[in-house]
Amino acid sequence: MSENEKQGLLTGPQSQVPGYGAPPPSGYPPQGAPPQGYPGQAPPQGYQGQAPPQGYPGQAPPQGYPGQAPPQGYQGGPPPQGGYPPQGAPAGAVPPAAGQVEQDSIPSAPPIEKMDQIAGYENVASQDPLPPPSYEEVTRAPPPTDRQIPSASVITAEQAKEAYIDFTSEHCCYGSSGAKDSSIVDLKSSSAFHYTLETFGEKRVTTWAQEPYNGQPIDGPQNGPAPGPWDLQVMASKNFQNSKSDIEVPHTASVKPCHTCVGNCRVRCNHCHGRGNNRCTWCHGNGHNRVYEDGRHHNKPCHHCNRSGQQRCNWCHGHGQVKCKTCDGKGNLKCYIKLTVTWTNHYDDHIVERTALPSELIRGVNGQTAFEEELPRVWAINHFPDPTINQASDTLVKRHSTAFPTERLLIQRHRVRIIPVNEVIAIWKNQETKFYVYGFENKVYAPDYPQKCCCTIL
Ligand SMILES: [Zn+2]
Ligand SMILES: [Zn+2]
Ligand SMILES: [Zn+2]
Repeated sequence: MSENEKQGLLTGPQSQVPGYGAPPPSGYPPQGAPPQGYPGQAPPQGYQGQAPPQGYPGQAPPQGYPGQAPPQGYQGGPPPQGGYPPQGAPAGAVPPAAGQVEQDSIPSAPPIEKMDQIAGYENVASQDPLPPPSYEEVTRAPPPTDRQIPSASVITAEQAKEAYIDFTSEHCCYGSSGAKDSSIVDLKSSSAFHYTLETFGEKRVTTWAQEPYNGQPIDGPQNGPAPGPWDLQVMASKNFQNSKSDIEVPHTASVKPCHTCVGNCRVRCNHCHGRGNNRCTWCHGNGHNRVYEDGRHHNKPCHHCNRSGQQRCNWCHGHGQVKCKTCDGKGNLKCYIKLTVTWTNHYDDHIVERTALPSELIRGVNGQTAFEEELPRVWAINHFPDPTINQASDTLVKRHSTAFPTERLLIQRHRVRIIPVNEVIAIWKNQETKFYVYGFENKVYAPDYPQKCCCTIL
């Protein structure tokens, strides 16, 4: 590795890559409000005046940080110029207060102002979803017009009765004769329609991420401009299924001194507050215990702490410091921009059911798929014989086209299922009952079953 490359690993805040900020690929013409951080856009208002990362001290790259791969177990060597003052506390000694951070109070990430500026990722700290690129209208085909709707299947009175008997057998305290000895006097077949629309979208969010630096490869700005968040090829494992993926954005990594231990690799022990010892639990710090012996009270020296009242801290073994968890004791962190891609399947449906059968029951049963279509963007159905379905399709397709502004819509599918619903009148012991047989499974809905509790009727 050349000296220059090594320097590159430690490049400070000005890892801005010249030439980046080219217009986005033609497939993704930007639209609407200027997306934050999308390359090629005018920087969002307010960004212009934003000060460069002042918090990273001394503007100049931390040359003072040894111009070599950060040493393992870096212990209080020369600090980065003007930067984190590693206190150089000798192990075991109580470190000075300045620059010391206890594990409990550590921030989860390095201060944002200490991070590099990566072209196209200026607003990475906001963690807002990145506005997706717009779509090309050419992906939409003209709406199909010829949509044949198959007719719903019907059942016979015998099948209805069979389903009725099966239904009673599933309910342990329903008498079976109410179904077995009944006669079917009327059967009206109808169809319920179940329209579903699914929109599969993708959301992208970037954040700064970090991991202990062990000498792993650093793909920093020296390797080229960082690709825009929407230019990275990340595919969902399966369409119409929720999932998530994290990837490191290429050319955004750098090595920084750990913000928690300021490069010391160790932090003050929480359990003894850096003292290395704690109050003796046997004598509560008194060095002696009050005992009653030989008919009188007296102080007996505590042999657990040898009268000192102090015990060595078990957590830090008396050193007053423990290994820094943030950097795993390495002193340095690999910082990079992490892209989190979230795929969400948005599902909406509408049921048309005109009997007294509760509509939601339609969702759980099989029917005949009368129509199904999968396209980047579907057109609302407009030729279904039942106009309520056309209306529902229109409403839902319109709603989905604007409901997920932070997502790129990858693919949509919609379908209409026809579910048979049979309204049946049965007579048992001169009593007339209405029940429903629905779905290809011939499920029964019989809220008024006349023989609900066999134990009292028999
Ligand atoms: Zn003691
Ligand atoms: Zn301790
Ligand atoms: Zn650390």
